[in-house]
Amino acid sequence: MQVKDVTEADVVIVGAGNAALCAAMAAHESGATVLVLERAPEAEAGGNSFFTAGATRFVFNDIAELREVLDVSEEEERTVDFGVYTAENFFDDMGRVTQYRCDPDLTETLVGHSRSTLAWMKGKGVKFEPMYGRQAHKVNGRFKFFGGQVCAFWGGGAGLVESEHRIAKALGIPIRYETAAVSLVQEAGRVVGLVAESGGRQSTIRAKAVVLAAGGFESNAEMRARYLGPNWDLAKVRGTRFNMGDGINMALRAGAMPCGHWSGAHAVGWDMNAPTFGDRVVGDGFQKHSYPFSIMVNADGERFVDEGADFRNFTYAKYGLVVLQQPGLFSWQVYDAKVTPLLRDEYRIKQVTRVEANTLEELAHKLEGVNAKAFLRTVEAFNAAVRQDIPFNSVIKDGRCTEGLPVPKSNWANTIDTPPFQAYAVTCGITFTFGGIKVSPQAAVQSVAGAPIPGLYAAGEMVGGLFYFNYPSGTGLVSGAVFGRIAGAEAARHARSL
Ligand SMILES: Cc1cc2nc3c(=O)[nH]c(=O)nc-3n(C[C@H](O)[C@H](O)[C@H](O)COP(=O)(O)OP(=O)(O)OC[C@H]3O[C@@H](n4cnc5c(N)ncnc54)[C@H](O)[C@@H]3O)c2cc1C
Repeated sequence: MQVKDVTEADVVIVGAGNAALCAAMAAHESGATVLVLERAPEAEAGGNSFFTAGATRFVFNDIAELREVLDVSEEEERTVDFGVYTAENFFDDMGRVTQYRCDPDLTETLVGHSRSTLAWMKGKGVKFEPMYGRQAHKVNGRFKFFGGQVCAFWGGGAGLVESEHRIAKALGIPIRYETAAVSLVQEAGRVVGLVAESGGRQSTIRAKAVVLAAGGFESNAEMRARYLGPNWDLAKVRGTRFNMGDGINMALRAGAMPCGHWSGAHAVGWDMNAPTFGDRVVGDGFQKHSYPFSIMVNADGERFVDEGADFRNFTYAKYGLVVLQQPGLFSWQVYDAKVTPLLRDEYRIKQVTRVEANTLEELAHKLEGVNAKAFLRTVEAFNAAVRQDIPFNSVIKDGRCTEGLPVPKSNWANTIDTPPFQAYAVTCGITFTFGGIKVSPQAAVQSVAGAPIPGLYAAGEMVGGLFYFNYPSGTGLVSGAVFGRIAGAEAARHARSL
């Protein structure tokens, strides 16, 4: 039988990104028959998960726990400082960056299952690698990791999606591409299937349980303007063009409770001239995340944010909004030769909006759209305010700050005086939306009446209540994996109970 002819399954999963495929693997492992529906064509499969660097975050208290996920050689154990990342660290990071709004039960599930879920994926054939290029610097000849995040899925998002699709294929899990879920079918309140559309034709697919893992509404300009506010329709979309909010809207129409930060989104500084949606070749290369070592200036030639407020892991996801709020919706990141060796790999791609100059005056005139005189005044005032008595150290919050400026820089402040100078133009790139639907720690979708909607589960970006205002880097994939795995297993359990 061809995949397109499969019209029923115990568990139907909507989406074929990371959360969906973790749900598919878990439901299959629990003995259910599984069908995956994916709106995108196969050539654009993998949702936002494909576009990621694959960075991930999980709890490990020692090298033995780290090894449950990451293969660390004896040589690396001797020569690399991986640090530890305790459950308390993960809780603190989630609490602090979300202004203590993250749902405690969901957060506990995320933190508590982070390592075991990634180890489960490893057991299925997914591989991991250390993130030397982005999360470590050499200190006295030894790599030291910072920011609580040490590894990534092997091959980044593309590698992760390729592995998951290979595993699903080997398990015989059918994926129907170019097939969009349109609405849920309910009988006496229970979800018993859905209506799907393919090639302009609609059909009903019967299921004992449905897992929604169809992403947020970041790709939908109308919903962005409606929920996030003015100018969000003009943001660049960092990833897939297919996350139109379908899963969230379907769940709401079925009576699900809206939950989380509906006017909030993960958004970063993203190359000014990047395309409207993600580019599958460049991936996340349009991001520009070395800004803690820069000054960022707007069209008025002024600084507008504390570039060094924290490690970039804990500020990058909220600084896209700050750039969106600037006149003209752009900013330039300015570096001098003292710090350019620290720039991340994404600064060396060929599709980059970059200028270079040997004097600050020359640079000022190359910063398109910026008031040159005001920029030079800003640099002068900034240079005079740097606490040069505090040593610079890129792998700790060094406290090397400015004094007396209206917009302070709290760490990694260096004078901008050593040519050649480089500058990079960024605008706002939206990653994913924070608002979604309410689920229990068992990934069961909750109704507005506060009860589970029988037969309906959700995972991934669609889950509301985890992220508010901000987000600790590397949490999206592990969150999708944790709740995807739970959703798949719970959906299979529900199917068995009928
Ligand atoms: C550029 C970029 C870099 C990132 N880097 C990282 C990182 O390094 N680490 C990290 O943890 N997170 C990262 N993220 C965030 C991460 O991508 C997401 O948190 C995660 O991938 C979400 O997984 P998901 O399965 O919920 O959604 P997705 O992977 O987006 O999957 C949703 C799927 O649903 C499909 N779909 C939508 N509507 C329908 C419908 N009606 N019917 C059927 N299918 C539908 C979509 O086509 C898509 O394939 C990054 C995101 C981007 C865009």
